[in-house]
Amino acid sequence: MKKAKVAVNGYGTVGKRVADAVSLQDDMELIGIGKTRLDFQAQIASNKGYKIYLSETEQKKKSNETSLEVSGGLGEMINEADIVVDCTPDGIGEKNKPLYEKAGIKAIWQGGEDHEIADFSFNAFANYDEALGREFTRVVSCNTTGLTRVLYLLDKAFEVEKARVTLIRRAADPNDIKTGPINAIVPDIEMPSHHGPDVQTILPHINIATVALKVPTTLMHVHAVNLKLNNKCSVNDIIDVLNNSSRMRLINGKSGIKSTAQIFELGRDLGRPRNDMWENNIWKDSISIYDDEAYFFQAIHQECVTVPENIDAIRAMMKIETDGEKSIKKTNKSLGI
Ligand code: NAD
Repeated sequence: MKKAKVAVNGYGTVGKRVADAVSLQDDMELIGIGKTRLDFQAQIASNKGYKIYLSETEQKKKSNETSLEVSGGLGEMINEADIVVDCTPDGIGEKNKPLYEKAGIKAIWQGGEDHEIADFSFNAFANYDEALGREFTRVVSCNTTGLTRVLYLLDKAFEVEKARVTLIRRAADPNDIKTGPINAIVPDIEMPSHHGPDVQTILPHINIATVALKVPTTLMHVHAVNLKLNNKCSVNDIIDVLNNSSRMRLINGKSGIKSTAQIFELGRDLGRPRNDMWENNIWKDSISIYDDEAYFFQAIHQECVTVPENIDAIRAMMKIETDGEKSIKKTNKSLGI
């Protein structure tokens, strides 16, 4: 089998996880990672055997300051690869697009870029088929991935007439010392928030409105979901649908998982790399029907939830696997979901 040659440009929170996930796939080969600095993360990547490429201007300056081996510049990495996963900070991906176009290479961007960068936004459950053979794809953000997965499943089973969601967003990632708040709750004053329209880039028929607040935590986002469903169903019917799908983990307040802190601890106890909880974590005992509407809470581990979707997007764009369900299964197995 010919392996897809994958480059990961930007080796931060998402990029390092995508690089590790790519290196676990038997149908993909990690060509290397694009870095701007030869810092401790570059050292760890090098220890793992990942080839490091630096942006051209930085390369000359920095390769003299460290013993780390640099395999070349960004252009050289791109020339080696079939597809690049751009995991650079919001807005940088857009600047990189002409480079990828010039090299004639396929590219995946993350949710910090606008939908228009690829004119196609991806979720493995909802539109794998539409990604087959594509040149460009955007894997939607952590919040949108978590919402799209669960809305897709419940819409298929019971038809979502309307979705109303409150997003309680983590202020920063654990390694981030620049962002806040550290002692405030910050409502997203623009109502409804941009998250609903982002879901509609994948599920345009869903009537969804979202509001969002940022709170001083780094662990996870929490969504309070309220759904009006067209087809009558019970709490157990909803539980059955979620139980029968992968990337959904039903957690239980009664068993001691009362907050994102315990979900994080669960990740550690499961021995997950970096405690990553790739699934939607849905509180089973929060699933309720009241006045004919469904309610539940879900927690989304922002650092990693999009990683399986990046792997599926590579497989679809490279047409290594044309069946979305098979790709999802393969990705899940490789990661240990
Ligand atoms: P990050 O800041 O943790 O990592 C970005 C990395 O890219 C850093 O190591 C930075 O040094 C490097 N970089 C900066 N400029 C570069 C350049 N020109 N070339 C190569 N590398 C460069 O960012 P992140 O959180 O991993 O976010 C990456 C993308 O993923 C963004 O679009 C973001 O919106 C999206 N995303 C982030 C999260 C999250 O919670 N962190 C979740 C889902 C999606």
